[in-house]
Amino acid sequence: PPDVEVLGRSSWTLLHSIAATYPETPSRTQQADLLRFVDLFAKLYPCWVCAEDFQAYAAARVPRVASRDEFGIWLCGAHNEVNRKLGKKEFDCSKWLERWKTGPKD
Ligand code: FAD
Repeated sequence: PPDVEVLGRSSWTLLHSIAATYPETPSRTQQADLLRFVDLFAKLYPCWVCAEDFQAYAAARVPRVASRDEFGIWLCGAHNEVNRKLGKKEFDCSKWLERWKTGPKD
């Protein structure tokens, strides 16, 4: 199986980059596509423990896809949930777009 840390870093990069380039006012189709993507991503994520917890999180707190900022904040919350679980520092979600709009800095 893939390295859980390498997989995690690259996956968060993909997810937050999708959020940062998601429209500020998405169409109904774009909203439906994003919901399907998150649902399938959570089902197919190739770390089964991670996938189970992410699916449970997305079931308890349904992804908010009505705007770029809503989705970015939702995703930041999902990432912080994993950070808490792993004993990592929580990220200040008011800074998510600044962190991800021009790509990773670390
Ligand atoms: P990462 O957590 O990968 O973060 C990368 C960068 O994102 C950070 O350097 C920071 O700049 C930024 N960042 C951090 N927090 C946020 C935030 N809240 N919002 C926006 N940006 C942020 N690993 C496990 O061991 N067990 C699990 O159950 C698990 N579940 C996961 C579920 C998912 C859906 C994903 C994508 C990953 C999961 N991982 C899990 C991997 C884990 O989250 C980390 O990716 C991995 O431990 C590497 O951590 P890192 O310290 O390099 O930074």
